[in-house]
Amino acid sequence: MDQVNSARASSGTTAVADVLLLLPLARTYTYSIPVGLLGQVHRGAQVTCPVRRREVTGLVVAVRAPGDDDPPRLSPLTGLATTRAPWPPDLMDLIDWTARYYVAPAGVVARTAMPSLFARRTPRTESFIRFVERPDVPFRSAKDNAVLDALEAAGPMDIQQAKRLVTDGAVSIRRLLARGCLVIDQRAPEMPVQPELPSGVERPVPTADQTAVLEKILPTIRQAGYTGFLLHGVTGSGKTEVYLRAIETTLETGKGAIVLVPEIALTIELRRRFESRFGKLAAVLHSAMPEALRANVWDDVLAGRVRVVVGPRSAVWAPLPNLGMIVVDEEHETSYKQQDGLRYNARDLALVRGTLARCPVILGSATPSLETFQNAHDKKLTYLSLPDRVLSRPMPRVTLVDLRYQPAQGGEKLFSPPLRDALATTIQRGESAILFLNRRGFGRFVLCRTCGTTIRCPNCSITLTHHAKPERLCCHYCDHSTQVPGACPTCNSQDVEVLGFGTERVEEEVGRIVPGARCGRLDSDTAPKGGLDRILEDFRSGAINVLVGTQIVAKGHDFPRVTLVGVLLAEQSLAFPDFRAPERTFQLLTQVAGRAGRGDIPGQVIVQTYDPSQYALQYASTHDYLGFAVAENRMRRERGYPPHSHLASIEISSPDSRQAMTDADAVREALSQFLMAAGREGREVIVLGPAAAAIERLRGRTRLQILLKGRRRSTLNEALWRLHRMFGNGHGDTRILLDIDPVSLL
Ligand code: ADP
Ligand code: ZN
Ligand code: ZN
Repeated sequence: MDQVNSARASSGTTAVADVLLLLPLARTYTYSIPVGLLGQVHRGAQVTCPVRRREVTGLVVAVRAPGDDDPPRLSPLTGLATTRAPWPPDLMDLIDWTARYYVAPAGVVARTAMPSLFARRTPRTESFIRFVERPDVPFRSAKDNAVLDALEAAGPMDIQQAKRLVTDGAVSIRRLLARGCLVIDQRAPEMPVQPELPSGVERPVPTADQTAVLEKILPTIRQAGYTGFLLHGVTGSGKTEVYLRAIETTLETGKGAIVLVPEIALTIELRRRFESRFGKLAAVLHSAMPEALRANVWDDVLAGRVRVVVGPRSAVWAPLPNLGMIVVDEEHETSYKQQDGLRYNARDLALVRGTLARCPVILGSATPSLETFQNAHDKKLTYLSLPDRVLSRPMPRVTLVDLRYQPAQGGEKLFSPPLRDALATTIQRGESAILFLNRRGFGRFVLCRTCGTTIRCPNCSITLTHHAKPERLCCHYCDHSTQVPGACPTCNSQDVEVLGFGTERVEEEVGRIVPGARCGRLDSDTAPKGGLDRILEDFRSGAINVLVGTQIVAKGHDFPRVTLVGVLLAEQSLAFPDFRAPERTFQLLTQVAGRAGRGDIPGQVIVQTYDPSQYALQYASTHDYLGFAVAENRMRRERGYPPHSHLASIEISSPDSRQAMTDADAVREALSQFLMAAGREGREVIVLGPAAAAIERLRGRTRLQILLKGRRRSTLNEALWRLHRMFGNGHGDTRILLDIDPVSLL
């Protein structure tokens, strides 16, 4: 087969294409371009190529004249996979860049970038329904006649619109189609001739601070050229309004924009705001939506029908043909880092794409990451600030409550008297409160009072979490779950107790101690089941007046009625085994405090802790980002952590713990040899480990970690590429995973 192809190809090849097969392969393959396809195969085009006896979809990364290094006989491409426009050059460049930086095959990057159905489907079409003929005798159903009349008068109509012509229109249409009175045509969706901006939208007049910021940003959009901005503004300072104005200008220049948001949950809120401003020109794109819909949006974006894309990290790959600006909202959020597969950071890639597409990039945050803050300090980013809340709404007052000096309430210390009193007063005044817990993984657990051990997951060596309805102990990493034991599995004592608390427990307790409280709960248990929208709506309307939740409640939501935020236990965040724990705690407290007092009434925040002297708590309580950043930065410098070094972690895992150790030693040895040979050991890149990962067993595998700390990125990158060439992704049962710039080391 290949030979037949080659023989046909050998006559008069004038151009060849380097093609990235959409398989997890590192290298590109070169094909000749048959005469019939000359002029149609461009960089970024999707093509079909013969591979052994199959046809595989590939992405053209280069079109060029045949060179001396090319084999004399090349197989020809068999066709264009679709009639779509080629992927934009800056997206192709971004794929190359990502592959090099994250030490991954470019094919893997390309597959991560696009919706999986996109490669296989033909471009999107729309269904139109059209009048054909009348029956000899009118129908008995008045609705059927009405639909037919309307369609005859209106001409071809969108099928969804036609269904709404009468009640139960779908039924009438089905009957009319069956009788041949109507037909359905498929055609490509039309391009909006004029951008359809909804008219008469109320846009607030920018404040003086917003105007000053916009005066810096807007010219860079008009000029077209890369500029990176850090927009540092407290929550409620009007950053989103700045993004919206900047996008308006981007659209005026005929270009499009990408807006990255940290969570899918947030896109629901933002969507309303974006759709009211940009109508159908804006679309949401995220990996949790149905594949087919995602592929459709990709088509709309690639064709230029959608020009504002809002979504979480995967939206950084949106194929806008004419990208004019990128916004990364809440740039410090760890959710921008993909934690499995290709471990890319969308915030960092946004800056790279901005340089490749030559357009401005705005990173917005109330609590910029130390890495971003350092970049602003080094003048790699232009620093812009919105220091005050819109309309001079005051920042909430933050009180730290020392739990060591508070008498226990009931059996457990869930609520100190100050928090309980504040809650009661808030409810009495007809206002609302948010109660915040760090994470559900640190919820209730079973402790033996005799030997002091907790009940752990046999696979993952983390404490199991207690769930009340139905009563179970569950592991949050694997699916292990078990009944609550009557006796300690270690020492057989019967003095075991359920301790700690989760959102469910807080919800119960609030109902018991605060009269008039109507409690709702928001965490990863309730959120995915469509509960999120309903609970948020109930909270906004006042049907719920106390919202208990994990991280989800901390982010972005704008609830005018909330005047009290209670943080039940700051330690849940500070005790987290990670060098970024103080930074995360500061960010979380700032963000959670940002939920208080967004309406006309000022808010207050009560943080319960066993040690109020911790610096992250101190700076958070005075809203002092700069103070925190300076203190934390000093700490990082002393300990050689980012932003003063670059990190990469290598995870070696195997079901057999001795095999894992042997392989980890081999990896370490290879790294040391390379670094020694280059005379760099101890100076440019330090190798730490192998050490047991914080979660040593996960899903039945033993995990070891090697940490690389380097001052020079290029050396670090070289070492990792060398490792990748030697070991790949592992062998046999051993897996080797690379994480460049890890945000979590567990
Ligand atoms: P951030 O994104 O920084 O949290 P937003 O842009 O969401 O801030 O603004 C906070 C609130 O203030 C929103 O309700 C928004 O509609 C309102 N707002 C923003 N800018 C203005 C303005 N110039 N005039 C009046 N209200 C504004
Ligand atoms: Zn025990
Ligand atoms: Zn487990």
